[in-house]
Amino acid sequence: MWIVAEKDIPKLLDSQAALRAVEGVFASMGKGAADSFPVVRESLGVASALFGFKGAFDKSAMVLGLKAGGYWPENTKKGLSNHQSTTFLFDPQTGRVEAAIGANLLTALRTAAASAVSIKHLRPKGSSTLGIIGAGHQAVFQIRAALALGGFERVVGWNRTPGRLENLRVATEELGVRFESLELDGLGREADVIITIASAFEPLLLDQHVKGPTHIAAMGTDTRGKQELDPGLLSRADLFSDSVAQSLTIGEFQHLDVDDSAKRASIRRLGDLIVSDQQRPRSELTIFDGTGVGTQDIAVANAVLAMARESGVAQWVEI
Ligand code: NAD
Repeated sequence: MWIVAEKDIPKLLDSQAALRAVEGVFASMGKGAADSFPVVRESLGVASALFGFKGAFDKSAMVLGLKAGGYWPENTKKGLSNHQSTTFLFDPQTGRVEAAIGANLLTALRTAAASAVSIKHLRPKGSSTLGIIGAGHQAVFQIRAALALGGFERVVGWNRTPGRLENLRVATEELGVRFESLELDGLGREADVIITIASAFEPLLLDQHVKGPTHIAAMGTDTRGKQELDPGLLSRADLFSDSVAQSLTIGEFQHLDVDDSAKRASIRRLGDLIVSDQQRPRSELTIFDGTGVGTQDIAVANAVLAMARESGVAQWVEI
C-alpha cells in the first residue's frame, strides 16, 4: 500500500486543488454516482475522545475509502493537534487497501473547499465583501479558499473573543485583501457572502442582521445541538446542503421547524445545483449547510495520492 505522511501534505495540495476535487465529487453525487455511507461517531470514554468513520464510494472515479479519526481535546497538552485522522483508500474491485494518507490538514482543506464550492455557485452577482464568523483552527483555511475564488476586496470578521481575529487579519492581508472586525449586525449588513465556522450552541447571526442579497456557508454545525443561525434566516432562504440527511440530523437544518415539511422537502444538494441549472435559487438569500461528508474526504485523499505518487513522495509498503 502507499503511505502519504501528514508532513508531506502541505507541499502537495493547495486550496484550488482541493476545490477541484470537492466540486468534482459533489458533481458525481448530483449525478447519483457517488455517495457517503452512514457516519459512525462514538465517545470512547478515554481522554474525552470522540472517534468515528466517514466512508464513501465514488463509482464514476472508482474511489472507495474511509476517514477514521476524530477529536482528542487533551492532545494540545501533549504537543499534538486535537483533530487526528487518517484516510484509507481501497481498490473497489478487490477490496485490497491501496493507501493510508494523513488527513489532518486534508480535513481543513476539504471543509474550506466545500464552502468555496458553494460560494462559487451561489454568491450574489458583484459580491465583494466576505464575512467570517469564528476564528478557530478552520477559519484561516476558509478565508484562503474563498479568496482564491477572486472578486473579494474586503473581509469582515467577528469572533466571541475578538483577540483571535488577529490570525485572520494576518492571513487576509497576506493575500493583499483588507480585513476589518465588525459586530454581528454590521457584518450581516455589509457582507455579501458569510461563512460561519464557530462551535456555537445558539444562534449567532440573527435574521435582522442580514440585509440584501447574501449567500451564507454554514460550516460550524456538525453535531446534534450545535447552532449558528437564527431559524428566521432558514425560513426565508433557499437551502442547499452537502447531504440532506446529515443536515437535518447533525447540521444547521436540524433547527428547521419539524412541522414545516415543505421547507424540509425543499432542501437541495449542492451537487444537484452543480449538474443542473434548473436548481437555481429564487430567493435573495441562500444558505449552504456543510456538515462534512465522506465523499469529500476520499476525493481530496485520492487527489493527494496521485500528486504524491507523481512527485515521488508516496512510500510503498508491502502488506
Ligand atoms: P476551534 O475549537 O479551533 O475554534 C472554535 C471557534 O468557535 C472559535 O472561534 C471560538 O471562539 C468559537 N466559539 C466557541 N464556542 C462558541 C460559542 N459558544 N459561541 C460563539 N463562538 C464560539 O474549532 P475549529 O476547528 O475552527 O472548528 C469550528 C467548528 O467547525 C466546530 O464546531 C467544528 O466541529 C466544525 N467543523 C465542521 C466541519 C465540517 O465539515 N462542516 C469540519 C471541521 C470542523
